Amino acid sequence: MFSRRGGVHETRQDSRITSSDWAQLRRAFSFLRPHRASLIGGVAAVAISGGLALLFPLLIRDLLNSAFAPGAAVNSAAAQLNRVALILLGLMLLQAFFNYLRMFLLGRMGEAVVADMRKRVFDHLINLSVRFFEDRKTGEITSRLTADIATLQGAVSLQLAQFVNQGVTLLGGMAVLLVLEWRLTLLMLAVIPALVVAAAFFSRGLRRSSTAFQDDLASANATADEAITSIRVVKSFTAEGWEAERYGAAIERSFQSALVRVKLRAYFIPAVILGMSLGLALVLWYGGRLAVAGALQSGDLVAFLLITVFVAGSIGTFTDLWAQLQQAIGASKRIFELLDEASDLPEAQEPVRLTNVRGEVRLEDVTFGYGRGGDAVLRGVSLTARPGEVVALVGHSGAGKSTLVSLVSRFYDVTSGRVTLDGVDVRDLATADLRGLIGLVPQETQLFSGSVMENVRYGRPGATDAAVKAASVAANADGFIAALPQGYATQVGERGVMLSGGQRQRLAIARALLKDPKILILDEATSSLDSESESLVQAALEVLMRGRTTFVIAHRLATVRRADRIVVLADGRIIESGTHDELLEARGAYADLYELQFKRDTTANLVTGSAGGRG
Ligand code: ADP
Repeated sequence: MFSRRGGVHETRQDSRITSSDWAQLRRAFSFLRPHRASLIGGVAAVAISGGLALLFPLLIRDLLNSAFAPGAAVNSAAAQLNRVALILLGLMLLQAFFNYLRMFLLGRMGEAVVADMRKRVFDHLINLSVRFFEDRKTGEITSRLTADIATLQGAVSLQLAQFVNQGVTLLGGMAVLLVLEWRLTLLMLAVIPALVVAAAFFSRGLRRSSTAFQDDLASANATADEAITSIRVVKSFTAEGWEAERYGAAIERSFQSALVRVKLRAYFIPAVILGMSLGLALVLWYGGRLAVAGALQSGDLVAFLLITVFVAGSIGTFTDLWAQLQQAIGASKRIFELLDEASDLPEAQEPVRLTNVRGEVRLEDVTFGYGRGGDAVLRGVSLTARPGEVVALVGHSGAGKSTLVSLVSRFYDVTSGRVTLDGVDVRDLATADLRGLIGLVPQETQLFSGSVMENVRYGRPGATDAAVKAASVAANADGFIAALPQGYATQVGERGVMLSGGQRQRLAIARALLKDPKILILDEATSSLDSESESLVQAALEVLMRGRTTFVIAHRLATVRRADRIVVLADGRIIESGTHDELLEARGAYADLYELQFKRDTTANLVTGSAGGRG
């Protein structure tokens, strides 16, 4: 499972690669399928260049054997030298060409695969339910998109190339060695078992430390992400030092895990080199004896030694590749966990298609809890909003108002009871259809980086510029937009022009107008706007609500008064409902709330009157 809250993974204690690991790898490599041509071309180029490398020692052998052949004529030796030099040059050029091919083909493939994978993972991610994101830290998720996929990139391009290259060197070299001098070859092979044992030990530690490292890094990312997203809070509490310390501690942990890996490698690689050097020394010693005894030509001995160096090098590389493979398996697991995460809001198999939507929303005996052992947040809530009706939800904070409206959009599924739209259970509708019918004006409007035009068009992608402008006019946003430096083309959102709360709200209203939904969910801003913005926003909302079934989480008296019905929530239950006057008359919870929360608006309204003006 993708661990909830934090990245604590079960770390495997051994270095064996199980069948499920292979399945992961196969799956990772399935991303190569569209790039088959590059893969085959690249691998062939690697194999050829690896094979060519083996020819160098053989040429040198010829060279030395002919130069040192007893009684060789000077002339013929010189001619031989020229010939060999030319062949060497040719080989080098050829190798350069194949090296270019492999680097280009496999490099391009690696980049393409990573890009595909990122797109695929993001595509999957963005379709997961709200709950998925609530349960996890953003930084943890983005870390998978970035760091883990980057690790896999190494596996599918560089390491694959290395693997093929070293495989050719190892097998080809071994074959050549056996032909050259089998006794020496066997002697050399004597060091291999020791190396294999060392490698097994090493990769076990490495796997453990690299999973730990990726986890620690992901949690450090999460920390940074949190601090950066809440930068204002951080600053206002002058918590920079504390945040820096927190991030520092997380990075320190990842550094310590990385250090384990560094130490392991620092022990292991020299040990492998030492082992191989010992093998070489052995070969040199025994080969020297054979040469002295006349059983081996000097060129053969040199070629043998050179190829042994190659083979030994490839054995060393293999052990390292093994370790990297473990890392890749770890990374691919983390990525596939994400890809396998199913939405906890199952789509209807045969969704009901609504035509001529009236917009009647009904909650029937709805009980809902956020799960995770928490209590029910809504209990036995029944409520019908008739088409076009404006229902104001009031109640103390935590009463369940936001929860109620999020069930209408089906951000969550009810625990029991049902939510219907025109009599159809929302679970029987295609989620996209349902949400297409609902417009949301949140408390805090989020603008995306882009122009004002693009931001409003978010309400209905594909809307014409004229439609965007019309919606902005209706939302009382046209005035301030025209006053922006580049009008509708002005960049807003991150690094763009800063807009006031009231201006952002009017953009959100324009968005909703453009979307033209049957049902509207308004989460009134709690922070008060200046009176001018306030009245502009209010007027825009009037336009927006016209003819739509509206749920409004109300914080203002004006809204509450105008609502067709006020529903008072307390502790997840509806305790009262009726019009403002009816409820005041009843002297119940609403009357208390009115005294406490809404009445101060009356005085404010008296002071400001019905201010109007420019935006
Ligand atoms: P209101 O909108 O009336 O302030 P909410 O619907 O936001 O109330 O919250 C109702 C209860 O549900 C609160 O106790 C709150 O802590 C809890 N709650 C709200 N959102 C979540 C969530 N995403 N996950 C878990 N609990 C939540």
